[in-house]
Amino acid sequence: MKVLNDFNFDNKKALIRVDFNVPLNDKFEVTDNSRIEAAKPTIIKVLEDGGSAVLMSHLGRPDGKSNADLSLSHIVDAVSDAIGVTVKFVSDCVGEVAKKAVADLKSGEVLLLENLRFHSEEEKGDEAFAEKLSQLGDIYVNDAFGTAHRAHASTTVVAKFFPEAKCFGYLLAKEIEAIDKVMATGEKPVLAILGGAKVSSKITIIENILDKIDDLIIGGGMTYTFIKAQGGKVGDSICEDDKIDLAMEILKQAKEKGVNVHIPVDVIAADAFDANANTQVVDVDKIPDGWQGLDAGPDTLQNFKKVILASKTILWNGPIGVFEMEKFAAGTIAIGNYIAEATKEGSFSLVGGGDSVAAVKQFGFENKVSYVSTGGGAMLESLEGKTLPGIAAILA
Ligand code: AMP
Repeated sequence: MKVLNDFNFDNKKALIRVDFNVPLNDKFEVTDNSRIEAAKPTIIKVLEDGGSAVLMSHLGRPDGKSNADLSLSHIVDAVSDAIGVTVKFVSDCVGEVAKKAVADLKSGEVLLLENLRFHSEEEKGDEAFAEKLSQLGDIYVNDAFGTAHRAHASTTVVAKFFPEAKCFGYLLAKEIEAIDKVMATGEKPVLAILGGAKVSSKITIIENILDKIDDLIIGGGMTYTFIKAQGGKVGDSICEDDKIDLAMEILKQAKEKGVNVHIPVDVIAADAFDANANTQVVDVDKIPDGWQGLDAGPDTLQNFKKVILASKTILWNGPIGVFEMEKFAAGTIAIGNYIAEATKEGSFSLVGGGDSVAAVKQFGFENKVSYVSTGGGAMLESLEGKTLPGIAAILA
């Protein structure tokens, strides 16, 4: 793996693809700067070596057109504050203005280019556009895991113009290592906890990871398709009838591969999908009509706790209940607590993919797990076993 520490940036200009696609409020202030903080170590390393940093990113979806609301100029102060250097800004990411701004850049300085997606060529992966970007640095560094699954000009195509001078930034390298720990090198027993709404969106992940794990916990809305497949009564719970055969097939494959599958035994059932619904604890396979399972029940959580605490490597993707409603958040919070406990005792834990990251942040588990992935789609595609184009381009 070509990493940042393989290079000395003294007197070099690093062209760094970062993911500064940060949320802004209506005054165009950054409301969550975690993505900026995440890229900071890479930028600091370049500056401390005596180099300069040319930062490129997208912001939002301007669809190939300039859009003042999505200008990266809004985040210049936030980036300056985060890295402790006054960041310069240039109003285009290619062309004469960009070339001049880069030529004027001195060691220790940082330049932020305007939103890459103001040019439609970026998302098309246009080679001529990538070549123009490549003129803006001596060494290409990709530190944007969130877009590593896209074959865009700045994330993938540009790398070919740096055959010997390209590498992963610290953040991207950490993401790759974390996924590798779960998928290949992690200490056994390896556990995957999969929740979320639907089996259909997780099916490729399940099929890919069955070869790599010892235990599988299934929670969330996915549960009910598996319960119905086994002949249980799921009432009005979310259930994908067209995935029942698939659920049976997954259980069969898991058995053949020696994976222990853990499914809820009881649930918090509600009489409506509503924050103020009436609730009762029922057996997962005896949910009355008019009721739906919206969270894991107490016996289930005790079972899951034992499995989690016995695991040495843990992957968590997808909430265990409808955590957005307080009445149905307890299961997801409990799972977070058990993972935090296992982590404290030396297990490696990776949380990734969309809603589980939101849950982990909302309930304050962020610093109690080993690693929280920054890339939703990129993380899911990695777990599905796909080679991400942004990663392949650096390894090529
Ligand atoms: P996903 O994007 O597939 O990870 O799904 C996340 C969503 O699944 C969250 O918004 C949860 O509210 C939802 N969810 C979790 N458990 C259930 C359930 N038992 N019934 C319906 N939705 C659920």
